Amino acid sequence: MGLPHEGRVAIVTGAGRGIGLGIATKLAEHGAKVWMVELDEERADQAAASVRDLGGTVESAPCDVSDPESVGSLVSKIIETDGKIDLLVNNAGITRPAMLHKMTFDEWQAVIRVNLSSQFITLNAVSNHMIEAGSGAIVNISSVAAINGGIGQVNYVAAKAGVIGLTKGASLELARYGIRVNAIAPGTVETDMTKTIMETPKFKAKYVDKIAIGRAAQPNEIASVVSFLGSDDASFITGQVLPVDGGGYV
Ligand code: NAD
Repeated sequence: MGLPHEGRVAIVTGAGRGIGLGIATKLAEHGAKVWMVELDEERADQAAASVRDLGGTVESAPCDVSDPESVGSLVSKIIETDGKIDLLVNNAGITRPAMLHKMTFDEWQAVIRVNLSSQFITLNAVSNHMIEAGSGAIVNISSVAAINGGIGQVNYVAAKAGVIGLTKGASLELARYGIRVNAIAPGTVETDMTKTIMETPKFKAKYVDKIAIGRAAQPNEIASVVSFLGSDDASFITGQVLPVDGGGYV
């Protein structure tokens, strides 16, 4: 019996650390060749080397996912090298927290650009190749914040809610070509992004202690769900948003 992603070519954005690195590691373990897309070149190289050390087949792919030209060149390179893209995982994201009345327009725009517009840019660049192939899977990373809101995060909440809209609209358009598009809404995951939450008792009480399972997730617990949604085991699932939050909002 083969691995679920044997022979497949996958792109994972924001793969230099945290959840993205966890996803790239899991997909490589499940047989995919993974293009590890990351803004920070040194981080991309180090992350790729760490997955190679575990026996995975990966490429370090420095690229700004919020820049259409940068994404366009990368997608051309992947097609030239591997001839196809089977799976796209839109994971790259940033936060710029501030209360609404103090948030600058730059802080608003930066978060919308990296967390939402980037997902349009990659879908726009990759979907043509998937349409030509007549198959493909896309998994977009949203957040439970899209569903529940969050204080000091209107830019992030709006971007992550936009990801859900993008996922639903794209799923309806692309289903006829054999392409599935789903989203995952993680709860709190232990990464650099949530370091302040984990280290500040007041925030930890608010975001972690309330989780039914009693702890934050580890990146590989998000990665296994991405691998499932991207695999043929999920062949009849599209347009869905799956919360992976340890029962945080039950
Ligand atoms: P992280 O900050 O640890 O890692 C994000 C990676 O994305 C970094 O390596 C960063 O350099 C890269 N990146 C940022 N901008 C980029 C760009 N323009 N182009 C390419 N790469 C870029 O974050 P994380 O905690 O691993 O989060 C990953 C995703 O999961 C994000 O979309 C985040 O919003 C989402 N998420 C995280 C949590 C959590 O609790 N950590 C919860 C819900 C959703």
